[in-house]
Amino acid sequence: MQVDWVPVTRFEQNCSIHWCEATRRAAVVDPGGDLYRIQDFLEWEELTLEVVLVTHGHLDHAGGAAQLAAETGARIEGPHRGDENLVRNLDRQGRMFNLKVQSYTPDRWLEHGDRIAVGEQFLDVVHCPGHTRGHVSYVDLASRFACVGDTLFLHSIGAWEHADGNLADLVNSIRDRLFPLGDDIRFLPGHGETSTFGHERRMNPFVGDEALLRYRAGEAPMARVSDAALGGD
Ligand SMILES: [Zn+2]
Ligand SMILES: [Zn+2]
Repeated sequence: MQVDWVPVTRFEQNCSIHWCEATRRAAVVDPGGDLYRIQDFLEWEELTLEVVLVTHGHLDHAGGAAQLAAETGARIEGPHRGDENLVRNLDRQGRMFNLKVQSYTPDRWLEHGDRIAVGEQFLDVVHCPGHTRGHVSYVDLASRFACVGDTLFLHSIGAWEHADGNLADLVNSIRDRLFPLGDDIRFLPGHGETSTFGHERRMNPFVGDEALLRYRAGEAPMARVSDAALGGD
């Protein structure tokens, strides 16, 4: 499957477009806003949007999902039901930033292990609680590429210091559900640059092999190197 991405919203959130070359059918992950950028891309590549996918219920990821689905006729899937409250209150999240945003109910809440067909290709759903309860990642196993939202970043991890966050869950999601998919998998985080699971396993100061030994020995995790916006809302 082919993939490309465009930054959207003032949070420079990575919205990705995945498409099956044979059928030109596409999935869009996390259309947080600036829908014209996504629509231009779909038009330029002559793609038909089949499904809008959401990693978690924060505004910068889910804020444009309802509108994009309405404008294209695509269905919306995700995130996991653990984010139901966030998704139902998207309009309220928007008002905090003076943005007009639509809440939605997805056509399907996703479960760990679900599979989404995009033309003749597939994305696999990995439930990754920790940044939020219902956070999911989307993995293209054939192309060795994953969209991990605000779970894992280049040399950092997602924010957990808020009501929906949980550090132990976040570490377990990354270590037990993402890393075992393979060191060679390249991932696109919700913000910033791509990396690979193998690179983070070696170098990440929060969930790398070395950091994990300290963490499991009871040491508190070191202060996050990212600023609040990076792994935040
Ligand atoms: Zn985000
Ligand atoms: Zn977030």
